[in-house]
Amino acid sequence: MDKDVVAAAFAYKKRRRGVAVVAALLLVFVGASAVGQMTQDRIGMIFALLVVIGFVLFMWKDWRCPACGKRLGPEFGGGECPHCSTRLSA
Ligand SMILES: [Zn+2]
Repeated sequence: MDKDVVAAAFAYKKRRRGVAVVAALLLVFVGASAVGQMTQDRIGMIFALLVVIGFVLFMWKDWRCPACGKRLGPEFGGGECPHCSTRLSA
């Protein structure tokens, strides 16, 4: 894959990860309490749990190096891929 394409793909993933984090937090804190109010607290808790599970699955599937496809650690914020050393961002 072209270097610019890899960097662009990674920048897009990073943005998507930011959106996913915000959406998951909102859904857990605002969504789950709203669901809990409308139904029962227990259902709100289940909803929150499902959001967390969905978020973890999404990150597990999505947070990968665009060049080699291997998983990047949760703490990975940029720089070189720890597996194939492709430069993902400046
Ligand atoms: Zn890689």
